[in-house]
Amino acid sequence: MLRHYIFISLFVLISVSMIAQPVVVVHGGAGNYKPEELPEVFKKEYFRFMNQLLDSASKWLNNGATALEVVTKVVMMLEDCPLFNAGKGAVLNSKGEVELDASVMDGKTLKAGAVACVKHVKNPVLLARKVMENTSHVLLVGEGAEAFAKELQLEMVDNSYFITPESIEKFTKWKEKLKTGGTVGCVALDVYGNIAAATSTGGLIGKKWGRVGDTPIIGAGTYADNNYAGVSCTGYGEYFIRNSVAYDVIAQMKYANKPLTESAKYVINNTIKNQGGYGGLIAIDKQGNVVVEYNTTGMHYAYIDKSGKKIIKE
Ligand code: ASP
Repeated sequence: MLRHYIFISLFVLISVSMIAQPVVVVHGGAGNYKPEELPEVFKKEYFRFMNQLLDSASKWLNNGATALEVVTKVVMMLEDCPLFNAGKGAVLNSKGEVELDASVMDGKTLKAGAVACVKHVKNPVLLARKVMENTSHVLLVGEGAEAFAKELQLEMVDNSYFITPESIEKFTKWKEKLKTGGTVGCVALDVYGNIAAATSTGGLIGKKWGRVGDTPIIGAGTYADNNYAGVSCTGYGEYFIRNSVAYDVIAQMKYANKPLTESAKYVINNTIKNQGGYGGLIAIDKQGNVVVEYNTTGMHYAYIDKSGKKIIKE
């Protein structure tokens, strides 16, 4: 009888703590490219990679991984994939070097971590997570961030590791339209109802060295709050910083009671667009609705929604 009772209580406890249907959305940057003009080799590899990424993320979430664990792992995989402007394959700055920015935010605790201008950390998003969990700070930059990474024995690489033949080609023709992937990001809702967001980038091609974009700025490129939504942005970072885009999406929901679709549309297609800025964002609200909004001709994104439907957009 007692065993029976314990078993039922445990079952109820587990089902109550695992309430939400997990949802995951990722992006690989927004830009003024024509999807139909993307090189076939890129598209083939992109679809294969995104498909595998979504399958892994959904398996982890369904097995009880937290949103924070999933966004970190997904963005690390995107950083390791040379198709995107983050980690390996990132764009070059005006000195011909790679400088990386990344951030992560946990919507459960509102804790956040970020790094900027790192040149030797293989996975900047992992370092951002360590800043969040192992320090009382939010943002570490440059040499200080790298010294912290070494202290933690994170994997360090030579700057040349990030540079691929494609990044050199992109750099030489950097005035041409973006023909491959861009900044990366991920937002996830886990089975416990937690939302987390992470973003990682090499920034704008040909940027001044030392320039920091919106990606590592909490509230500009990344934000998450379990009570509202999680957001990861991409685009012309200076506009996203000046307009606190990721937080503005949440603020409209919080103070004006707007649904996520409307607040995302407003900031991307009014605020940013009217100022001449370009870009987009991915987001998930606490009900598990996925929103992708952009004012460019293209945006690379993929998601599995709450009904289990999988979408991959080149
Ligand atoms: N937002 C990034 C930055 O300005 C670049 C991008 O998303 O394409 O650094």
